[in-house]
Amino acid sequence: MEAASPAIARVWFDGELVDADGPRVGVTTHALHYGSGVFEGIRAYATRDGAAVFRLADHLERMRKGATLLGIAVDPDVAAEAVVRTLRANGHRDAYVRPLAWVGAGSFGLDVAGHAQHFMVATTPTPVHLGGARTRLGVSRWRRNPARALPPLKLCGGYVNSILAKREAKARGCDEALFVDDDGFVVECTGANVFAVSGDRIVAVEHADALPGITRDTLVATCGAECRPMSLAELRDADEVFVCGTAAEVTPIAALEEREYGVGPVTREIAALYARLVRGLESMPAAWLATA
Ligand code: PMP
Repeated sequence: MEAASPAIARVWFDGELVDADGPRVGVTTHALHYGSGVFEGIRAYATRDGAAVFRLADHLERMRKGATLLGIAVDPDVAAEAVVRTLRANGHRDAYVRPLAWVGAGSFGLDVAGHAQHFMVATTPTPVHLGGARTRLGVSRWRRNPARALPPLKLCGGYVNSILAKREAKARGCDEALFVDDDGFVVECTGANVFAVSGDRIVAVEHADALPGITRDTLVATCGAECRPMSLAELRDADEVFVCGTAAEVTPIAALEEREYGVGPVTREIAALYARLVRGLESMPAAWLATA
């Protein structure tokens, strides 16, 4: 296994904190062959009251749903405790948090029954970002996994779809791929949901094949966005476009193929609002910030 980044000293692995370079997983690990795992992307922020994890319970509930489909037992309370203890062990305040549950070593059959199950948490102080204010989107030639074939949850195997689209977008000089469906409706990006601003109307793009993002939900609840489907043509004509996600936060889009956008005032305002929210500087439901 590759050495962990020096900033990651300790990881949670199957019920205890261990040195990050310690865990070894077998080469017959089911998840390695078939993507039979589920992960989350969570962030902790330094607040006036110390480190706090944003919407931890919601992330772990989404993880539990994905795990249940794969027959993996994930207890959100136990997982929350693991997240907090890993952050503390590493002394991380502003951090990206990656829990992963997966089907372990066993036979090569597809049936997951009887395989070991594992759970880990790693935290890293390095936030994963898109291309900042200059993010360019390319319309992907790949379709998003249809929800009726693979539900929009954070199932590991499903992310091969994102990897293909990301590779193609980057090969064309774009930073990120935009998935569009067969009828020309916008779905989402490889790891972020899409918003459009026209005049003073903010639209959170809705699509059955898109991950129900927690950042998207946060913004809908706080900035009065309307949720509805949107065609690619309408997105192209919008005044401002931004994408959002736990890692991406609120990322303004500079271009969609040949269409260029300025970083508009509404996107700026929403990005600033989100930055204050996650640091506990705006009023919000108490459950959204879990003290680490
Ligand atoms: N779509 C996809 C495909 C993602 O992987 C993510 C990141 N989790 C998002 C949207 C944004 O979701 P969230 O705001 O919950 O991070």
